[in-house]
Amino acid sequence: MDGSVGFVPTMGALHRGHLSLIRRSVEENDHTVVSVFVNPAQFLPGEDLEAYPRREEADAKICEIAGVDVLFMPEISSMYGSDEVKLKAPEYLGYILEGNRRPGHFDGVVRVVMKLFGLVGPKRAYFGKKDAQQLVILQKMVNDLFLPVEIVPVDTVREEDGLALSSRNVYLTPEERRRALSISRSLKSASRLIMAGEYDCAKIAEHMLGIMRDIDVEYVRIVDRSFRPLERVEIQNSIILVAARVGKTRLIDNLWI
Ligand code: AMP
Repeated sequence: MDGSVGFVPTMGALHRGHLSLIRRSVEENDHTVVSVFVNPAQFLPGEDLEAYPRREEADAKICEIAGVDVLFMPEISSMYGSDEVKLKAPEYLGYILEGNRRPGHFDGVVRVVMKLFGLVGPKRAYFGKKDAQQLVILQKMVNDLFLPVEIVPVDTVREEDGLALSSRNVYLTPEERRRALSISRSLKSASRLIMAGEYDCAKIAEHMLGIMRDIDVEYVRIVDRSFRPLERVEIQNSIILVAARVGKTRLIDNLWI
């Protein structure tokens, strides 16, 4: 393909969050490639690989309407072979927080994204800030391996009531969905606290936990852009991260300060 290629890797069940990445790519590049691949390497045993929502026809329609040039939906057998050269996620960044709860998850992410970059050869690749740790790891992968790809971060798209869009939201019952709203409410409330001058991370986290008392919070953490824990919020250099279980569904959300 002549001209610049923008690339949006996804696991499908496309929603308005994905669409915002796709639109950005269509705007900024001559061609846009979207991949839909539920990557087994990034699921741990016991996770929702089999149950993960698959909506290939609807995804194809959305891509067509959005002006995507190539929709790439590979089979697992064409992506992975035996005794492969394997890339690993960084030892710190790949194994804290999400990587600590899901050990090996980011190894699977860097493996597949590296393969997809090799196949697609994009000038720019679009990733959501919703998956903050993934975004920072992939930015590091591109820097560390001198890859000729620009990683473009895209803001989180939310429902009107604040819930961050996610393919996994379909698992939520109406009652769970209502309780899940406390995640985005706690982030919003944290940002108000910070604007009012409260920079103490422990106090902010405690306040957020109070708001999320009806759900099973795995962690609330305030880190800098390299994911080092902070004691005090640093404006323009902090991310507030939340992971929680609501019923059987695991949700993550965050706020970049
Ligand atoms: P996934 O299909 O969940 O692997 O997501 C594919 C890409 O879409 C990733 O870069 C995600 O960070 C991004 N994404 C997922 N949800 C959202 C959202 N609500 N807003 C913006 N980007 C998102």
